[in-house]
Amino acid sequence: MAELLKHDVVIVGGGAAGLRAAIAVAERNPSLSVAVVSKIYPMRSHTVSAEGGAAAVIKGNDSREHHIYDTISGADWLADQNAVELFVDEAPRELTLLEHWGCPWSREPDGSIAVRPFGGMKIERTWFAADKTGFHMLHTLYQTALKYVPITWYDEWFATKLLLDKDRCYGVVAIELRTGAIRGIVGKAVILCTGGAGRVYPFTTNAITKTGDGMALAFRAGVPLKDMEFVQYHPTGLPGTGILITEAARGEGGILVNKDGYRYLQDYGLGKPLDVHDPRHPVKRTMELGPRDKLSQAFVMEMRKGRTLKGPYGDYVLLDIRHLGEKKIDEKLPFVRELARNYAGIDPVYEPIPVRPVVHYMMGGVHTDVDGKTPLPGLYAAGECACVSINGANRLGSNSLTECLVFGARAGHHAAEYVGSAPDPDSSALEQQVRDEADRIRKQFLERTEGERLVSIRKDMQNAMEEGCGIYRTEQSVQAALNKVEECRERFQRVVLDDHTNSFNTELIAALELECMLDVARALCQAALERRESRGAHQREDYPARDDEKFLKHSLAYRTADGVKIEWLDVVITKWPPAERKYGADSGLPSEGGNKS
Ligand SMILES: Cc1cc2nc3c(=O)[nH]c(=O)nc-3n(C[C@H](O)[C@H](O)[C@H](O)COP(=O)(O)OP(=O)(O)OC[C@H]3O[C@@H](n4cnc5c(N)ncnc54)[C@H](O)[C@@H]3O)c2cc1C
Repeated sequence: MAELLKHDVVIVGGGAAGLRAAIAVAERNPSLSVAVVSKIYPMRSHTVSAEGGAAAVIKGNDSREHHIYDTISGADWLADQNAVELFVDEAPRELTLLEHWGCPWSREPDGSIAVRPFGGMKIERTWFAADKTGFHMLHTLYQTALKYVPITWYDEWFATKLLLDKDRCYGVVAIELRTGAIRGIVGKAVILCTGGAGRVYPFTTNAITKTGDGMALAFRAGVPLKDMEFVQYHPTGLPGTGILITEAARGEGGILVNKDGYRYLQDYGLGKPLDVHDPRHPVKRTMELGPRDKLSQAFVMEMRKGRTLKGPYGDYVLLDIRHLGEKKIDEKLPFVRELARNYAGIDPVYEPIPVRPVVHYMMGGVHTDVDGKTPLPGLYAAGECACVSINGANRLGSNSLTECLVFGARAGHHAAEYVGSAPDPDSSALEQQVRDEADRIRKQFLERTEGERLVSIRKDMQNAMEEGCGIYRTEQSVQAALNKVEECRERFQRVVLDDHTNSFNTELIAALELECMLDVARALCQAALERRESRGAHQREDYPARDDEKFLKHSLAYRTADGVKIEWLDVVITKWPPAERKYGADSGLPSEGGNKS
């Protein structure tokens, strides 16, 4: 008989969102038993690699209106404004809480919290711990979570399916990687905190674990994925590896130049170099500190004009931080120096760093409300796998770590309340689902001896996504990508593994991850196909303008028997009606007329 491991709340994911949610449940109701299920040891979650920082209003020159406005305009008006208001209001408290739990935020000489500028944020509000912010935040959350006895840790367990009963969610089916055992981990509420899906693309900053598993699990259970067409390219990845050179490098004063040494961003409506020195203008954040979508798009334009450099890994431009000097680089950007030395073979104290845009973040994800609730009772989601939405068509750097805390905590609190009122599941029905899933995995992957190996399918999917759903798209290119993804799904039905063993079968995990990515990719393509406008990170060359009349709406992708179906949901506008996004001298801060409430 299939064994059910019983808890009250099951959290899938041990990154910032998952750990924050676990602490929230434990604090809200210490009598609840919490399971944290993670396919890797929690401290290895992708959160650990975040470098730049986390945004929250803390300084006297800043205000909630500024943070809200930057986020909404950065999102090209596709963010839900009630969610953004709530996020901005709760952000300072969450970051302060982390301070109390031991997070070593970097300081000003007077001992107050230091903040740095970040792209699209027109005022400095990004808290940081040197350039290893994610590591310190995750460590703080992990050591705090460890002290709660009701939390049971399922490290290196891989969730493959949601358990459902009477239209509610009651846990997950998961494989224990050490033994290959397949079990049901049961709870009256499940919080998905499984992170993003950058690995759907070939060139990404994302860890190999970021394969959209939670998104796919929810999608298969009938929960819609929201705004999947919005994929963030970060403008400064190292060619070849995709390793990120944090925006903090530009926040600290780094500049981007083309093959002629020219600061090309001034040609793309992002202000002029002179702005920074103009005392009459209060807003100094321009050019290199424009939002990521616009910087990545400017790179493609430079490339088309033949003004980029050519290397073994394609076109690139140069990120120059030499003028900051060795002392500042070592103090504020030590990791940037280490990465550039190890992975580009250059020392940025003496040479500029080669960079190009790289897939970095999914604005879309599992459709939730501001409490992390999905349309499926008992199922919650938070962090990068969720779409609340505060990020709209383009996330601002450093909002995401804070988002994991704010909405991880809210999802935890609401799940803790919900389990008190949820009915008990029918255990035998859940056991049957665990047995069925174990049979499926055995037959589909472990017993098959002939078929196609998974690597070629994965590569074909990734290349099709880059070609068809990259920085710029057309109807034709997206359709071609979708056709290829559907072909890959067909081929996946015949996938064969070389490894048929039970213990640490990493090939089996790679197959299950590919299955998830194929679901995520087709939702992404279908939404990209049907959004016939250009907004934020979704740039359609055949529909170059933003179309608020038709598309000031979230896309909701549903999995149906006849393919992916898209529905549309109105964006919540509270006080900030759609306006033109402006960067540079005329940047449209609320005080300058952007807020016409
Ligand atoms: C290189 C890099 C730098 C970044 N820098 C910044 C920054 O400076 N500021 C900022 O705000 N944002 C930054 N981001 C974005 C931000 O770090 C992420 O969006 C955020 O950390 C995601 O956290 P998460 O908790 O949602 O997911 P993750 O940290 O990705 O954790 C996902 C968890 O889910 C688990 N999981 C996934 N699938 C399964 C499964 N099937 N079964 C069991 N467990 C599963 C994993 O084991 C893991 O524990 C950066 C991202 C990258 C890639």
